[in-house]
Amino acid sequence: MPTRSCIICRKKDEKSNLFRIISDNNIAILDKSQKINKRAVYLCKDIKCIEKAENSLKKGKLKVKIGINKDSFEVLLNDVKNELGE
Ligand SMILES: [Zn+2]
Repeated sequence: MPTRSCIICRKKDEKSNLFRIISDNNIAILDKSQKINKRAVYLCKDIKCIEKAENSLKKGKLKVKIGINKDSFEVLLNDVKNELGE
């Protein structure tokens, strides 16, 4: 099983246990299929990591190497929070 690291806590897990986020022309998209052939970052399906990501993003400290527009990332993080039923 391929493992990936969460961009926040760096914990390694199977891809299927993480949210896969891709950049499509700098717009953050949640890749639910996990198969879209674009560069991706991964985030734990854990409210703690999502909230940390939000805080880092607001402070301008979240570095995402794949080139994602900040506003679109904020929208996506909101969506994944809803996904978790928060
Ligand atoms: Zn994490």
